[in-house]
Amino acid sequence: MFNKVLIANRGEIACRIIRSCQKLGVATVAVYSDADADALHVRMADEAVRLGPAPVADSYLRGDLIVQAALDTGAQGIHPGYGFLSENPGFVDAVTAAGLVFIGPSADAIRKMGLKDAAKALMDKAGVPVVPGYLGADQSADVLAAEAGKIGYPVLIKAVAGGGGKGMRLVEAAADFADALDSAKAEARTAFGNADVLIEKYIQQPRHIEVQVFGDGTDAVHLFERDCSLQRRHQKVIEEAPAPGMTDAVRAAMGDAAVKAARAIGYSGAGTIEFIVDGKNGLRTDGFWFMEMNTRLQVEHPVTEAITGVDLVDWQLRVASGQALPLRQDQLQITGHAFEARLYAEDVPAGFLPATGTLAALHFPALARIDSGVAAGSEISPWYDPMIAKITVHGPDRGAALTALSTALAQTQVAGTVTNLGFLQRLAAAPDFVAGTMDTGLIGRMPELAASAVPGAQRLAYAALIAAGLDRGAPWQGFALWQGAPQRVLIGEESVLVTAAQGGWDVQVGEQIVQLRRAGPNWRVDGALMPHALRHGAAVTVFGADPFTLDLPDPLARGGAGPGGDVVLSPMPGLVAAVAVTEGQSVAEGDRMVVLEAMKMEHVLRAPRSGIVAQVAVTAGDQVKAGVALVTLAPEDAA
Ligand code: ADP
Ligand code: ADP
Ligand code: MG
Repeated sequence: MFNKVLIANRGEIACRIIRSCQKLGVATVAVYSDADADALHVRMADEAVRLGPAPVADSYLRGDLIVQAALDTGAQGIHPGYGFLSENPGFVDAVTAAGLVFIGPSADAIRKMGLKDAAKALMDKAGVPVVPGYLGADQSADVLAAEAGKIGYPVLIKAVAGGGGKGMRLVEAAADFADALDSAKAEARTAFGNADVLIEKYIQQPRHIEVQVFGDGTDAVHLFERDCSLQRRHQKVIEEAPAPGMTDAVRAAMGDAAVKAARAIGYSGAGTIEFIVDGKNGLRTDGFWFMEMNTRLQVEHPVTEAITGVDLVDWQLRVASGQALPLRQDQLQITGHAFEARLYAEDVPAGFLPATGTLAALHFPALARIDSGVAAGSEISPWYDPMIAKITVHGPDRGAALTALSTALAQTQVAGTVTNLGFLQRLAAAPDFVAGTMDTGLIGRMPELAASAVPGAQRLAYAALIAAGLDRGAPWQGFALWQGAPQRVLIGEESVLVTAAQGGWDVQVGEQIVQLRRAGPNWRVDGALMPHALRHGAAVTVFGADPFTLDLPDPLARGGAGPGGDVVLSPMPGLVAAVAVTEGQSVAEGDRMVVLEAMKMEHVLRAPRSGIVAQVAVTAGDQVKAGVALVTLAPEDAA
């Protein structure tokens, strides 16, 4: 076993890897950027080395600095986590050349699986079922269009170098093929520096089921499947293991195919074989096809750990240090059912925009496993993935685990940034998900999942109580200020009237009077027990089901002059991917103005109203900070 390991990552995954190292008595070295100087992973590790400024190109992607840090601190191995350098064969070569161990597969295995077309060809040869399609080197538009016709519409165009759902286009009919090809190639060229594509039969209403594999270079086992069909824009949101409706026969067939895939490349370490599955009439042994292999630890690996009892990072460390696989296939078993939900700082109603903020509160229920890289007081910075935590629950069966998931999500408390928590709660209750009959299109068909939380009169009154600090003390016993006339409290966009009453307060919201009464340490509103709530800065957050945050308006600031809808500001730091307007052009409300790329996503910024473009302050390729004016419209009267 290693004496000391460097973790070339940040956030929750760095913390999670450090934890397994600690259990094995392996000393840890963290690396960090200036934005992460106070981060949890830095505090958890035995030592930490600064890499550079916040941008990933200057820090977490600096393989040279990371190798040097390992040499300087005497670490023997480097664990890459996921993302960043984890699937970069050049980095693996550099680590090995420095006499260090890369805790992951060989550079050769990563190269073989790195391009989707080559990987599919290799898997086809190894006898693994692949999605029918075209993998040829001839990339001319005519040939690709002809091949698409042969495959039969609908087809999917995929960047061979793709990842994170980028460079992918669904084409429903031949007439749309040429345009879709152009845009897929353009996106692939920008994102991956490789415009080549493959064409695949589009499986309608499919499921995404993947198999966890583990190899030691000679042998391989699988640790069963995960169902990751709940996706938004091809990115996973809630994952589970095992897959609902899985039969012994299909599990054996998928497991065999996955092990065959791993053996075909002499795989060492943790990996995932992703399959696209036609589950419309139940799972079938001839109804799954290889999509790609991820040659690293997967974000959603905790659900596999929950049902198998295996610590996959422990296994990674053992196998990388030369030990054999800890268990044989016949020693691996599934116990119960697990779900993982990915909690993000993001503005869901605004289109899932990544959000930032300082966490005024962060509390998780004891019943869940929490993988997080932040704590109360931490900052969610604009520089990296805005993940707050992965919430994993386990139960004896799917129903019990799903109940635990809903409970855990209702008991999770975050203040200081907007989150996708309400979205996750609604998703966990979506009928097709509850029934286990979901497919990858479920989230797309349910836009109501992304609606903003609108508190009714009762929860609004409760928020007003917290806002005014009236939840403390016993005013009905003689709190002078509140003895007389009702007092007005401003909360969000509303104003309510509060009157002292026996055992609490009566609050008038519009025409309605709601009764807030103390119930031990809690409050009841018209008899209903309220969840915990918190005033932080100039805002109040009410936790629980459908959590919401309301700002406390500053009465003095009312009526102040703002940008008045004339300016399109960048909502976050990012790269200007495209500018769709020119100065002097007239636009209608909702027209595309600027496409901003931040983190893994593209964000379309639209005209706030119709008018004439007075100024365009950026061009494609510019890096912009948050709050910068990108496009200015001429004042309304001038239009
Ligand atoms: P998983 O199934 O593990 O979620 P993904 O391919 O969605 O696999 O990505 C896992 C992680 O890899 C992400 O959380 C992110 O950190 C990183 N990642 C993947 N693709 C990209 C990309 N195109 N740009 C930036 N980061 C990426
Ligand atoms: P990435 O490298 O971006 O993760 P994948 O090939 O794994 O790309 O595909 C991402 C997602 O796109 C899958 O999880 C699935 O939801 C969808 N997808 C991929 N291939 C197909 C297909 N042939 N038919 C239908 N959906 C697909
Ligand atoms: Mg994938």
